[in-house]
Amino acid sequence: MRPRVPGPLGPGATIGILGGGQLGRMLAIAAARLGFRVHIYEPGPLPPAGAVAAAVTRAGYDDVAALRAFASDCDVVTCEFENVPAQTAETLAVSTVMRPNPRALEIAQDRVDEKRFLHNLGIATAPWAEVDRAADLLGALARTGAPAILKTRRLGYDGKGQARLSGPADAEAAWHRIGAQPAIMEGFVPFSAELSVIAARGTTGEVVCYEPGRNVHRDGILHQTTVPSGLPRGVLQDAVLVAGKILNALDYVGVMGVEMFHVPGKPVMVNEIAPRVHNSGHWTIEACVVDQFEQHIRAVAGWPLGDGSRHSDAVMTNLIGDEIDDWPRLAAEGGGLHIYGKAETRPGRKMGHVTRIGPRR
Ligand code: AMP
Repeated sequence: MRPRVPGPLGPGATIGILGGGQLGRMLAIAAARLGFRVHIYEPGPLPPAGAVAAAVTRAGYDDVAALRAFASDCDVVTCEFENVPAQTAETLAVSTVMRPNPRALEIAQDRVDEKRFLHNLGIATAPWAEVDRAADLLGALARTGAPAILKTRRLGYDGKGQARLSGPADAEAAWHRIGAQPAIMEGFVPFSAELSVIAARGTTGEVVCYEPGRNVHRDGILHQTTVPSGLPRGVLQDAVLVAGKILNALDYVGVMGVEMFHVPGKPVMVNEIAPRVHNSGHWTIEACVVDQFEQHIRAVAGWPLGDGSRHSDAVMTNLIGDEIDDWPRLAAEGGGLHIYGKAETRPGRKMGHVTRIGPRR
């Protein structure tokens, strides 16, 4: 069994990553640049991260023998997605170090636990109510007000597992649309902007936040992130302080994406936390000295955090589904083009992104 990491990992150490998607791929590239080996653990075939990693284990998250072998090869294990089963994290934690810690993953896996956690920290959110069964729907809607959004408690992402309601008459249909499972009712926030903070916390407790970006979603999927956001300085400061509070409360190590709503005249509201690098932080690759991926690797390796300041203005646009077919034109444009190397193009699937930068205003 490997010893638990006492101090910073040196070059040549192995960083394990649970999940082999595009976030794992960009983490692996950043880790390689700092001299680390990366071992990807992924149940599915042909993971995009596998093509740029030193080792890949293809096994299920419930495969105890495979998890043990993986843990014994890794000096530290991190993840590129939040839905790591609790049992998986426990198995790994016996013989290696998990960063961020499993508690952060657990809270982010359940929208009700997440809201309670934020409430206990005094952080504003949309009005919400728990919905365990159909009989709870109307009471919940009375508490949140209409319009509202019904979301599954667990395993929702990119707007999946969500249904909008304009009033009580829609409640039954919404319940069935999300698969009649434990849910949360959220009052619809009349936001003027969505923003996110990409925040990092190191093993010594230092926190570095990137400048908050302004996000535009299409069909529940992030379309574009723009920095600077154009939001008032006070809002940006509020956003960064809220993010720092969350990371400190969780004794978090690594990068986290904190998605927020801005309603003029109100404190920022947190929509959700993602205990990992985040799509809305991809702009940092071209526009910052140290990007979110390197920052996460630095944090989980116990290194000092890097300089997250921005030297350029940036607009990051996702390439969803067959938008990736436009790559020859985008390549000719000469900006920051990223193609994730996914085996198959599907509607709604994140296939790549492009970041256009300009001089910092
Ligand atoms: P989520 O999966 O919770 O991040 O939701 C995806 C997107 O749906 C968000 O980025 C918002 O654009 C929108 N959305 C989610 N929850 C709310 C809410 N309570 N009020 C208004 N818009 C919301």
